[in-house]
Amino acid sequence: MDEKLKSTLICSGVLKEARDFLLERGFVEILPLILTRLSDPLLETKYAKTKIYDKEYFLTTSMIFQKQILMNYFEKIFIVSPNIRIEKESPHHLVEFVQLDVEMRNVTKEKVMEFIEDLVIYIIRNLKEKYPQLIKVPVPEKPFKRISVKEMKEKYGNMLNLSQSIKEPYFLVDFLEEEREFYDREDPQRYGILLDYDLIYPFGFGEGLSGGEREYEYERIVDRIKRKGLPLSLFKEYLEYAKERKLKPSAGFGLGIERMVKYLLGLDHIRKTRIFVY
Ligand code: ASP
Ligand code: MG
Repeated sequence: MDEKLKSTLICSGVLKEARDFLLERGFVEILPLILTRLSDPLLETKYAKTKIYDKEYFLTTSMIFQKQILMNYFEKIFIVSPNIRIEKESPHHLVEFVQLDVEMRNVTKEKVMEFIEDLVIYIIRNLKEKYPQLIKVPVPEKPFKRISVKEMKEKYGNMLNLSQSIKEPYFLVDFLEEEREFYDREDPQRYGILLDYDLIYPFGFGEGLSGGEREYEYERIVDRIKRKGLPLSLFKEYLEYAKERKLKPSAGFGLGIERMVKYLLGLDHIRKTRIFVY
């Protein structure tokens, strides 16, 4: 079977398994948003913009702020969310991709990492059973190993070298404040270190997921935005919710669907995961 058709089949399988796992646990699925005025400022990403009927919009980079606002109304949510990111051209990047965006109220980083282990194991185990000819990667065992950004840099230099050197998925933790987004919660005990995590696939497949605990208190959010040198006006709607104390403690993650398919099928370029993406 052609690589793009195999990918399409496995992509459908990943989404089915992920939905089964989440719906079974009481998550509410929220519809995605493409046109928005409130989107993730992601360090290395420029917003793509468009104008429709004289109104200007960003194309969603991620629904992080919508996820946080939704925590005021729901305890556990997910979105199968198409994102546009003008980031860089590489075998690991698509300008248009889809992430499984998940958020949970009142959970800690450790709890979410355990949740991610269970989700990833569930997806891989079930897909291996259904498509033994196509999926050769082993079902990982939990707990996945954790490595701090500091240790990663000392031992491997960068994330891709770490990924090339490992044989099972790892969590990369303890990101530095200046290297990540303002909404990832800063550890109250360790100034400058964030309570977030990336899932790193082995054999050079690189980053598969990012997530973290979130800042939710108005004063802390404003401080973090200022430290980044970003204009507060970009986040007006979000800041209004924060000011009214409508953001709750939460944590979550975004799992790249195409990156997971690329890893599961051992593909050398992410473009091969999508039938109509060139
Ligand atoms: N907003 C993150 C991203 O899109 C995912 C998350 O932290 O939930 O990379
Ligand atoms: Mg990321």
